[in-house]
Amino acid sequence: MIPFEYVSAGSLQSAIESVHLDPAASFLAGGTTLIDLMKLDVMSPRKLVDVNGLAFDSIEVLNESVQVGANVRNSDLAAHLKIRESFPVLSEALLAGASAQIRNMASTAGNILQRTRCPYFRDAQTRCNKRQAGSGCDALNGVNRSHAVLGTSEACIATHPSDMCVALAMLDAVVVTQTPSGRQRRILFEDLHVLPGNTPARETVLQHGELIAQIELPFSASSQRSHYLKVRDRASYEFALASAAVGLELEGSLIRAARIGLGGVATKPWRSKEAEAALQGKTAERKTFLVAAEAAFATAQARKHNAYKIELGKRTLVRALEELLMRNEL
Ligand code: SF4
Repeated sequence: MIPFEYVSAGSLQSAIESVHLDPAASFLAGGTTLIDLMKLDVMSPRKLVDVNGLAFDSIEVLNESVQVGANVRNSDLAAHLKIRESFPVLSEALLAGASAQIRNMASTAGNILQRTRCPYFRDAQTRCNKRQAGSGCDALNGVNRSHAVLGTSEACIATHPSDMCVALAMLDAVVVTQTPSGRQRRILFEDLHVLPGNTPARETVLQHGELIAQIELPFSASSQRSHYLKVRDRASYEFALASAAVGLELEGSLIRAARIGLGGVATKPWRSKEAEAALQGKTAERKTFLVAAEAAFATAQARKHNAYKIELGKRTLVRALEELLMRNEL
């Protein structure tokens, strides 16, 4: 491992300054991604600024939203009564991710900013535009079974690995940050991650030294009636091949509003407005769900080993919607 300096942040301002003024510095929270990647020589920050002591570790229930501190651990967020009642999709997504030990360590902000599991990104001996800009992408013509079919580019086809983020994308969550200039910034979750395009090394709209402080979850009928379904190679401690975060606002069997997020198939936490439009105003039944699934994957592009994800993604979305419907009929 390459030597690095460790600093425990005494205040919000000093944490932000320490990182902002040093291009090779990084924030450290749970460390469940960062330390892994440092051991693999994929990331080599010169300085780690530990933000665990900052007061971003509470979950506050307000009239119109729940405010989740950036340092809240994944296991605490999943278990919180109000989250389970009003945002079941989020609790289910969190519990579908990683292992119990990792969920106990991983922070909310760290989960949002976790890096891809593309095996070429994690192997410093291969070519990867995300790890080293302009070096090429060995996944394009390599083993790409786990890679994305939505939001890809000729520079990168890596999937975003987070389950939690798929739920946040469809919940209309807002990310609240503290910028190096001392301002607070509010970013709609859907706009936080960017598509790889020609610059896959840039993954979010955050500037260097901008710190995520909290996540805002607005209450809604479709958040309350929501569900997460994850399909993977083995039943636990595995990343999604395809997943769906679904929420429906129903009036009888009529869909008044729908929210759809997709995971395991896209380069960023994916919100499918196409599927939502196909559901809205229709009868909640399998026939409608099949049309929505076709709409969700209409622009999908497969590589040599991942064409199966298009069919799998559609079936996952249909099954998630059917499970949600059955649950609410019981
Ligand atoms: Fe790197 Fe993206 Fe290519 Fe994977 S798919 S090797 S992360 S550029």
